[in-house]
Amino acid sequence: MSDRELYCDTCEGVQLFEMPPCVDDHGADCPELVCTGCGAAVLIATFAFHAPRLARRSRPSAHRRAA
Ligand SMILES: [Zn+2]
Ligand SMILES: [Zn+2]
Repeated sequence: MSDRELYCDTCEGVQLFEMPPCVDDHGADCPELVCTGCGAAVLIATFAFHAPRLARRSRPSAHRRAA
């Protein structure tokens, strides 16, 4: 799953976006998307990048007191 449909300002409509070759250190988690319609617009999908981090939360273990 490396492509998605999003709104492109340049194309003024919904276009198919795909991941460009990552030159940074993102790897499979690269948040950059390039429009396949105009080939120029790049979108930074920060929402997809932050979601897993927000979901990760350490739960404090419930302390139970024996009567
Ligand atoms: Zn990248
Ligand atoms: Zn476009």
